Amino acid sequence: MRIVEADIAIVGSGAGGGTVAARLAPLVARGKRVILFEQGPRFDYRRFNGHELEMSRMLYREGGGFMVADGTVSLAFVEGYGGSTVVYTGTSLEPPARIIERWNLPGLSPDELVRRARCYAQDNGVHALPAAQINENNRLFVAGCRELGWNATQFAVNTRGCLGSGLCNLGCPNNAKQGTHVVQLPRAESRGVEVITRARVMRLRERRLEVEVGLNPDGSPGEWEPGNYEVRARRVILAGGVVGSTTLLLRSGFDRTLPAVGRYFTCQPAHILVAEHPHPVQNALGHPKSFLWDERIESDHFFLETCMYPPFITAKNMTGFGPDHERFLRRFDHLQMILVLACDEALPNQRIVLDRRGNPQVRYRLDSRTIRALVGGTRAAAKIFFAAGALRVHAPSARPTCLETDARDRIETRIRTEYFLPGTVSVSAAHLMGGCRMGRSATDSVTNVDGQVHGYPWLHVADASLFPTALEANPYLTIMALADRVADAVLDKEHA
Ligand SMILES: Cc1cc2nc3c(=O)[nH]c(=O)nc-3n(C[C@H](O)[C@H](O)[C@H](O)COP(=O)(O)OP(=O)(O)OC[C@H]3O[C@@H](n4cnc5c(N)ncnc54)[C@H](O)[C@@H]3O)c2cc1C
Ligand code: SF4
Repeated sequence: MRIVEADIAIVGSGAGGGTVAARLAPLVARGKRVILFEQGPRFDYRRFNGHELEMSRMLYREGGGFMVADGTVSLAFVEGYGGSTVVYTGTSLEPPARIIERWNLPGLSPDELVRRARCYAQDNGVHALPAAQINENNRLFVAGCRELGWNATQFAVNTRGCLGSGLCNLGCPNNAKQGTHVVQLPRAESRGVEVITRARVMRLRERRLEVEVGLNPDGSPGEWEPGNYEVRARRVILAGGVVGSTTLLLRSGFDRTLPAVGRYFTCQPAHILVAEHPHPVQNALGHPKSFLWDERIESDHFFLETCMYPPFITAKNMTGFGPDHERFLRRFDHLQMILVLACDEALPNQRIVLDRRGNPQVRYRLDSRTIRALVGGTRAAAKIFFAAGALRVHAPSARPTCLETDARDRIETRIRTEYFLPGTVSVSAAHLMGGCRMGRSATDSVTNVDGQVHGYPWLHVADASLFPTALEANPYLTIMALADRVADAVLDKEHA
C-alpha cells in the first residue's frame, strides 16, 4: 500500500468534479496539493468513431444498459475523464426558478444559481444554433407544434465548431462539444491540479481514501502505477455522480449516521419515440437537439424535446419485436424522433443500496404519476408527429404499438395507461439526481446547502446527487452552478 499526502482530494471528473477542479486550481499556486481521482480512463477524441456498440461499451457503465433492480428502466452514465459530459448532448438550460424556490433552502436563491450557471454557459460556448444549422428533424417538431397552436421553444447548446455529425451521445469526433473534458479539466491541469485516471476510490475513512489504480484496455495510459494507495487528504469533495458518490458513502458506512444516503433518487425517465414520414427526413446529420415543448410540465409532469439516436439505440428503445418494429427501422432515413421526459417525484423509498458484493443497486419503481406522465407525453408527441405529416407513429403504450393516420383523431383512446406495463415498455434515463440531497438536517438530507456533509466538516458533495428533487429540466448547467457554490464554500474555509 503506497501512501500519498494531499490537501484536497476530488472524486470524479464530470459536470460537478470538473467544475470544482477548475475553481480550486488557484490553490495550487499557493502551495496546496489538489488531486482529482477518476475511475475511468482519458479518451482521445479521435477514438470516437461513431460505432454504436464499440463506443457504448467503451464509454458507458455496463455499455449503457445499467438497469434498475426491477429491470424496468435503463440508466445511462459514463466512467471516464469528463464523466457523462463526454456523451451529453449539450442541451443547456438555466436552473428553473420554480424548482429552486420549491427546494426552499436557506441562502439558495434562483437568481444566484442562474448567475453562476450563466458564467458556465459563457465558459462553454453556449449559444442558440442559427436557423441554417437546424436540421429537418428539429424543423418538423416546430412545424407540428405550430400546427397544433403549441409553442416550441428553442434552447441553446454548448458547441464550438460543431460540424453536425449528430454523434454527441457516442463522443464528439470533432471535439466541438464543450464538456468538462474539453474546458474545465484541461484548465485545472494546466494550473497544477493532478488528475489521476483509472483510479477508483473504494472507501472513505476519516480524511483517508482507499484508491485502487487499475489497468483498462481502453483510453490513454494512467498517470500512476497500478496498485493500491492510501490517500491522506485534509478535505474530500465527492463528485462521482449520483451512483458513484452515493455508493462510496454507503460502502464507507456513512448511512449509519446519515439515514438519507441513497434516498430520494430521481432520473426523469424517458421514452424515445419515432414516426415515419412519407419522404426522407434529414435526421442523423446536424446537431440532434434544439427545441422543447413544456407547456404541460406543471399540470402533467412531462416535457418533450427533439432528439435523434443512432439505429441500435433507437431499436432497443422501441417497444416490441417483429414486423412493426422492423418496418420502422428499415425506414430509418424517414424517421422523426421525439424524447418524452417524465418529472418523477423524489421519494424516500426510491433509493440506491448496495448488493451483497458491495455494488450499487438502484431500487426504483415507475409509479402511477410517472406512468401517467409518460403516457401523456406519448399522446402529445403522437399529435405533433401527425401534425407534422407523419404516416405512422410508434407509441409504446398503444395496442398495437403502431398508429396509422386513421388514429390521429383517437389518440387519447388508443394510447392508454392500461397498456403501459412496466418491464414490457422500454424506458431509459440519463438525468440521474439525488441520493446525497441537500437539506436542513441529517434526518432527511445528507449535506447542507453548501454541499458539506452533515457532521463531517472535511467532507463535501458537488454533483447531481445534491438535488433535493428532480430538476424538471436538463441538469448539467445547474450541477455546474451548484458545484461552483460548493467550491466557494471550500475556498472560504481554505482561506480562513
Ligand atoms: C447520453 C446522455 C445525454 C445527456 N444530455 C444532457 C444534455 O444535453 N444536457 C444536460 O443538461 N444534461 C445531459 N445529460 C446529463 C448530464 O450529463 C449529467 O447530469 C451530468 O454529467 C452529471 O454530472 P455529475 O458530475 O453528477 O456526474 P458525471 O458527469 O456522471 O461524472 C461522475 C464521474 O465520477 C466518476 N466516479 C464515480 N465514482 C467514482 C469513484 N469511486 N472513484 C473515482 N471516480 C468515480 C465516474 O467515473 C464519472 O466519470 C446527459 C447524460 C447522458 C448520459
Ligand atoms: S453534432 Fe456537433 S457537437 Fe454533436 S458530435 Fe457532431 S460535431 Fe460534435
